[in-house]
Amino acid sequence: MSECYKDLHLQLLAGEWREGSGDNSRPVINPYSGETLLSIQAATSADLDATYRKATEAQLAWAETPPAERSALLLRAVSIFDERKEEIIDWLIRESGSTRLKANIEWGSARGITLEAASMPARAQGATMGSDIAGKENFVYRRPLGVVGVISPWNFPLHLSQRSVAPALALGNAVVIKPASDTPITGGLLLGRIFEEAGLPAGLLSVVIGPGSAIGDDFVAHPIPSLISFTGSTPVGKNIGKIATGGRYLKKVALELGGNSPFVVLDDADIEQAVKAAVFGKFLHQGQICMAINRIIVNSAVYDRFVEGFVAHVGKLSVGDPSAMETAIGPIINKSQLEGLQQKIAKAKEQGAKVLLEGDIEGQMMPPHVFGDVTPDMEISCDEIFGPLVGIQKARDEQHALELANGTEFGLSSAVFSGDLYRGLEFARKIRAGMAHVNDMPVNDEAHMPFGGEKNSGLGRFNGNWAIEEFSTVQWVSVQKTPRQYPF
Ligand code: NAD
Repeated sequence: MSECYKDLHLQLLAGEWREGSGDNSRPVINPYSGETLLSIQAATSADLDATYRKATEAQLAWAETPPAERSALLLRAVSIFDERKEEIIDWLIRESGSTRLKANIEWGSARGITLEAASMPARAQGATMGSDIAGKENFVYRRPLGVVGVISPWNFPLHLSQRSVAPALALGNAVVIKPASDTPITGGLLLGRIFEEAGLPAGLLSVVIGPGSAIGDDFVAHPIPSLISFTGSTPVGKNIGKIATGGRYLKKVALELGGNSPFVVLDDADIEQAVKAAVFGKFLHQGQICMAINRIIVNSAVYDRFVEGFVAHVGKLSVGDPSAMETAIGPIINKSQLEGLQQKIAKAKEQGAKVLLEGDIEGQMMPPHVFGDVTPDMEISCDEIFGPLVGIQKARDEQHALELANGTEFGLSSAVFSGDLYRGLEFARKIRAGMAHVNDMPVNDEAHMPFGGEKNSGLGRFNGNWAIEEFSTVQWVSVQKTPRQYPF
């Protein structure tokens, strides 16, 4: 495959492709092969400051461009997604350990939100409204926020950056991305190249790369960005919320955080179909998805049948080279994530979970682990797992299943299987989560449907009309057409 994008070790700082000014460089490592793909010199807070300043300058003219011009630019970006599909997918496989299937899904989601965003300039509406004051006319103008800071994680780096970048640009903002250290290429640099190729004026999109621990606070606390759109873990997200709203300047935050998705199987469910859904919803991308199934909750009447089918199906998944067409499970992103998962396995055993399936870990390859007889107090029930292991819990009845499903601090996605669609729908509506799917698994994202969580899973919604709300603001302007009578 011919690579079109060169010099990906350079960052996009203040409208220029150049190296960061920091002393340290960090390698970008292929999590499957261990190969160093390239090395990136870290940006400093001074680089960040110059970048935010350039963004604020560039945004003024961008906000004045006609909606059709902004739409056309996003449509050109969609065409580039199509032309560069193979190169983008190849980077997702090599940099983030995505299987070919997952890389295709991610490419499709990122392309999808770009296409959706292309329609946003024409959909961003204001209003004219009546007034209670004689002679006054009220207008509500929708306007961009200014500069948006985007912080994204390593698991769906391309899409989770682009779902903020595309709507924000479409609505007349400038954007600065800080991708995760494990995935600077797919989380930011490729998007910088794509938008540059699409003709986006310099300075409107920047990519700043440096450790969260070094430039993270400045990225959030800097006076210029008026919205910080963060996707990542709950502890880091809470801290970002604190800095963004508790410092010298108040900022809007969009926080898309961790999950603990329940997958509920009621007693009348089609067990064969439920097994297929559970396997995919748990093991896509090695379970490293915020919406991935974290707890399987099965009615006791169908528990044995479900467990037998699930373990048999999972046992057949192929683990290995993520670029191979048949591979279902690729590598864990890095050593520290793998160590965390090993600790979770040890803890599950110590707490009395029954091992139904396990295998040897080699390098960063971890085969699926399945535990039965899991109780809600065990660590694998309470914590976000983010890996290819899962516990199955038994529910006495529907009410108990609902209590178990809702017994979590998180509320991102969820799913329920029932043979009666209305029963499934009623159950889904009682789950305290931003997203609930009947007779499907919880990993769903459509560019026009509201994506986001309740409770400790975050604040705000992405996609469709909800993204228009997140990435713009309104201004009330009134015009007093006749002299107003003041009481004194
Ligand atoms: P993380 O919170 O460790 O890191 C996310 C991003 O924050 C990275 O870019 C990281 O460099 C940056 N960061 C870290 N410390 C920072 C700081 N002090 N200041 C500013 N930025 C900082 O998360 P992760 O390990 O990359 O991703 C996995 C987590 O993300 C999981 O909890 C998962 O559920 C969550 N996630 C949520 C969604 C969602 O839409 N709700 C989607 C994907 C992932």
